[in-house]
Amino acid sequence: MATQKSASKPTRWRNWSDSVRGTPRAVYLPRGIDELAQAMGRYSREGRHVRVVGDGHSFTPLAQTDDVLISLDNMQGVIAIDAERGTARVQAGTRLRLLGDQLLKHGLAQENLGDIDVQSIAGAISTGTHGTGIRFGSIATQVVGLTLVAASGEVIQCSETERPDIFKAAQVSLGALGVIAEVTLRVMPAKRLRFVSRRERVDDVLANLERYKWENSHFEFFWMPYTPWAQVKFLNETDDPPSKGNVFGTLNKIVLENGLYWVLSETARIARPATRTISRVSAMGIATVSETDYSHRLFATPRAVKFQEMEYNIPAADFPAVLAEVRAVMKREKFNVHFPIECRFVQSDDIWLSPAYQRESAYIAIHMYKGMPYERYFRAIEPIYQPYGGRPHWGKMHTLDGATLATRYPHWDDFRRVRAALDPNGVFLNDYLRRLLDADTPVAPALGASTGESSPTL
Ligand SMILES: Cc1cc2nc3c(=O)[nH]c(=O)nc-3n(C[C@H](O)[C@H](O)[C@H](O)COP(=O)(O)OP(=O)(O)OC[C@H]3O[C@@H](n4cnc5c(N)ncnc54)[C@H](O)[C@@H]3O)c2cc1C
Repeated sequence: MATQKSASKPTRWRNWSDSVRGTPRAVYLPRGIDELAQAMGRYSREGRHVRVVGDGHSFTPLAQTDDVLISLDNMQGVIAIDAERGTARVQAGTRLRLLGDQLLKHGLAQENLGDIDVQSIAGAISTGTHGTGIRFGSIATQVVGLTLVAASGEVIQCSETERPDIFKAAQVSLGALGVIAEVTLRVMPAKRLRFVSRRERVDDVLANLERYKWENSHFEFFWMPYTPWAQVKFLNETDDPPSKGNVFGTLNKIVLENGLYWVLSETARIARPATRTISRVSAMGIATVSETDYSHRLFATPRAVKFQEMEYNIPAADFPAVLAEVRAVMKREKFNVHFPIECRFVQSDDIWLSPAYQRESAYIAIHMYKGMPYERYFRAIEPIYQPYGGRPHWGKMHTLDGATLATRYPHWDDFRRVRAALDPNGVFLNDYLRRLLDADTPVAPALGASTGESSPTL
């Protein structure tokens, strides 16, 4: 959030990629749980609608509102460490980078992260944000307890043992259950990782896929469209001291992956037929990089070049077949796209609305440079995932409606039931969530889950 103070005048708000805009009537930044709980009770009594935002890095209109927008920017930092249990209680607005730095002061770390670190911890867990590593779950799997402020202002503690239904729904909740005020995370001793990145032929990557997945703690690759090349990234634990590797590593991230990439992307936007050439030039620019640092600093990469994104979760076993279909459609349709296709792997979990629910998962993400048309590309790729039971990343673009999502998530109706119980008047619903969750349809087993209304977000 750019706004640092509570504001009672309409304020313009937009998300990171500018795919979502809103003009909240009021922006509220509480300084603690008591203040937040009182405000929620008041908003409910006044019949206001409330959305809560983290850092606005979701591409979908989850945080969009023209009424009250709550930001926990003033509620950041580690509250307490329980060394015996290996947990850290943190304020829900804490940005991941700050969290990593504060945990490191205690010799601790989160076991895995995604590829940026600017999100709030509550925002990251609420959409099922994940990194890569087949032995690691999404960030929400690190959560062992939550403090939630419900629409009524009631402060609810939940965990695997305390109100477990609310907990299973709140671990990935799209901000639809209430405001998460505090998060208790399972943490581990701080570790250093060696990061290696290099160019490889994508067919070689696919031939070595199982080995790469299982022999490395964290493995991902980016296929450069219309080229035989991929950038492969590996992260593995090391006892080596932190070193920035070669200067070229840092230079690569700042200059090549951001500065030069922006110039190439602008060229693609202005001269669209050049996109395939630009993809080939980008592939040639993939440097061999090796560096060592504390884990939270190496998971994240600066992302200055803006884009729109669609990412789907599919069963890991189906990944080679699905990627082959994606490549075939791209070859046939010749979309003007130079942004790479990102492939990651995540352990299965038991969180109701987690895309990795009860399946070892692969994620495939497609991107389009901001300002270039993305709809035709995203709409052509999205159907490929459907026969494989694809589940969209909650923070990224998709067109699935509640009826389809209900078939993908065994606990869909359980989630809806918890939501309806915690927020019967729909204080936390915006138009997008109302459609997505079919929130106007009563939740009763005999009625099923859906009205079949569509919720396009492309
Ligand atoms: C450049 C870029 C890189 C990304 N990289 C990755 C990646 O590597 N892996 C991945 O999985 N995703 C990735 N994402 C997606 C991103 O992690 C998610 O969209 C994440 O939810 C954004 O966090 P945020 O703090 O910005 O939350 P927002 O986008 O502001 O909000 C997300 C959701 O969380 C809810 N929320 C926020 N705070 C609270 C709270 N206190 N209580 C209750 N609900 C709350 C909001 O209401 C909303 O529903 C990326 C996005 C971008 C733009």
